[in-house]
Amino acid sequence: MEVTSIQDGIIIDHIPAGRALSVIHFLGLDPTRTRMALIMNTRSERYGSKDIIKIEQEATFQLDILGFVAPQASINIVKAGKIVSKRTPGRPLSLVNVIRCSNPRCVTTVEGGIDQGFHLDTTGGQPGVYRCDYCDEEAELS
Ligand SMILES: [Zn+2]
Repeated sequence: MEVTSIQDGIIIDHIPAGRALSVIHFLGLDPTRTRMALIMNTRSERYGSKDIIKIEQEATFQLDILGFVAPQASINIVKAGKIVSKRTPGRPLSLVNVIRCSNPRCVTTVEGGIDQGFHLDTTGGQPGVYRCDYCDEEAELS
């Protein structure tokens, strides 16, 4: 499979198999307005199977969220058909308004108009978990 089939854009590789749709959701990409290719459940030497997303547009969206939804992914920036840079997502120390607290008694659930803030908690070891700033509930992928 040719990885560089896009001219200018971004390739997100090594996404855990089956999680590409969550990545698209969390990146806020609109599938009806974004030129992209989705490869799901393809073979990965590193993980057995993986998903790949190729997006033909500049990466103006917030890639930090990948540190939550797919921290082991690799981000490849493509210019003129060539990969010009490659990196793994960082684990942002905080996430604001990208995920919602799942605790029904949390103040952010009960009251509207409050920012949904999460912070990275590494007290249990790396890579850590994201917890609600208000009630400490662990963030869940949904
Ligand atoms: Zn909460």
